[in-house]
Amino acid sequence: MSDACKLAAGNWKMNGLRADLDEARALAKAFPKLDCGVLLCPPATLISAMAEALEGSAIMVGAQDCHPGEKGAHTGDVSAQMLADAGARQVILGHSERRGDHGESSALVAEKARAAHVAGLVTIICIGETEAERDAGHTLDVVLAQLAGSLAEGATSANTVVAYEPIWAIGTGRTPSLEEIAQVHDALRASLPDPAISLLYGGSVKPGNAAEIFAIENVDGALVGGASLKAKDFGPIVAALEAS
Ligand code: PEP
Repeated sequence: MSDACKLAAGNWKMNGLRADLDEARALAKAFPKLDCGVLLCPPATLISAMAEALEGSAIMVGAQDCHPGEKGAHTGDVSAQMLADAGARQVILGHSERRGDHGESSALVAEKARAAHVAGLVTIICIGETEAERDAGHTLDVVLAQLAGSLAEGATSANTVVAYEPIWAIGTGRTPSLEEIAQVHDALRASLPDPAISLLYGGSVKPGNAAEIFAIENVDGALVGGASLKAKDFGPIVAALEAS
């Protein structure tokens, strides 16, 4: 663990209805006080209701994407300003599912990050290699190029978090070895424009492996998908981060 702020961020992806806000309430009840940051990023439809449900709690609410523009003729899109207005404080950008499903380039991610910073949101910039890229020995080249291309100009620890998420580890139950995670995070730390930017690991983080991942020097927390949906799973991950 470095000196950067610790953060456990949950990405609900396209999951969650109003009834599921009980999971957020249960998490807030379990952690009335926190030393580390804890964030839930529900689908856009739930941001406002979750912000209301968590008002006064130690848990922050975030979003999963934003448009690079401020407003206008972009049917179906949501601007960073709208997310902030709904109660989001952070926004995940460049998740591999957006890069893959929507063809998002690092340049577009950087544009979105700029818009998010203007709206006062902290950006969580996601980067990660495919399995073929890892097998070919290109992991560091790929993630360092994504990092350089995806960060907004003026990225600092006050407005930016970086999440290393190997694509082949997302939702698969597979993770890199602790040494492999350490190698990537060490290289990322050395390449950050501000060394105090928090570096999260993401990809099949569970209650059973969180503590050993958080013990890696340059890992400052986690971006968690599946295990963030239920307080009974995300709670132990938050507790492991608090204890790290
Ligand atoms: C993610 O999609 O960001 C993620 C890390 O998913 P999971 O934890 O389910 O692997």
